Amino acid sequence: MGKLYLVGTPIGNLGDLSPRAAQVLESVDFIAAEDTRVSLKLLNHLGIKKPMVSYFQHNIRQRGQQILDRILAGENCAIITDAGMPCISDPGEDLVALCHENQVPLEVVPGPSAAIAALAASGLPTGRFAFEGFLSVKASSRMEHLESVKNDRRTLIFYEAPHKLRATLEDMARVFGAERRITLARELTKVHEEILRTTLGEACDLYAQREPKGEFVLVVEGAPEPESTLVTKEQAAEMIVQLNGCGVSLSDAAKQVAADTGYKKGELYRMALALQGGEG
Ligand code: SAM
Repeated sequence: MGKLYLVGTPIGNLGDLSPRAAQVLESVDFIAAEDTRVSLKLLNHLGIKKPMVSYFQHNIRQRGQQILDRILAGENCAIITDAGMPCISDPGEDLVALCHENQVPLEVVPGPSAAIAALAASGLPTGRFAFEGFLSVKASSRMEHLESVKNDRRTLIFYEAPHKLRATLEDMARVFGAERRITLARELTKVHEEILRTTLGEACDLYAQREPKGEFVLVVEGAPEPESTLVTKEQAAEMIVQLNGCGVSLSDAAKQVAADTGYKKGELYRMALALQGGEG
């Protein structure tokens, strides 16, 4: 049995193709490519001559089976897409699942992905994030999608085409609020790379005047933490009594609760004392 190699290719700058990616493309029996004309340019640049089959959205089922049969018969295959990592808003996911179902060994040769490059450069929190891919072209589905992530605290990553950018920014400002921060990562690793950190409102204003050009990743700040529920003075005094009941001196408890709630220590102390019927 052969093997499937998932090979990441550059998202603009050909210098980003790893030596291992080149070595694997050179060594396999054939390459499954999203668009063979685009991939031929990459192979020519590398000086590699290799048989290619096309594997794209509309022939995934039939072509996937053919690729699988060839691997089962002993050939090694590399799958590549026009740019970045296969399977990430690109063909590959079904073939990978098919290989797993048929116990076909698989190796990943990681390369750049626009989503991760944009997130890293965004200046927004990277600890937790959600990749949302492309929004639908249908207005109602787009709004539904945005509404579904409106309260997500994680940083959100979207892919967007230039001709849809204005409408998307407007929809985002409407759903997430004009103050929400966004980083627009444009033409990453290419000559006109631009990383613009702003707010949704300002991005709408900017692109109302400027023609959107090139490829974009939109990295949007997650929803803000909900405002902490306000504690009334009476509740604060109750908290002091409770702490006192747990062995904290009334004075220390008043100091702690005053710091937590912002009320004056002396006032809270007197209220707590009154609640206890004058006993300290
Ligand atoms: N599989 C690719 C990856 O791993 O990044 C993504 C492919 S998806 C079909 C194409 C989208 O990725 C573009 O519409 C754009 O949103 C984003 N993209 C790809 N290359 C980019 C680049 N150099 N700069 C900014 N965005 C890019």
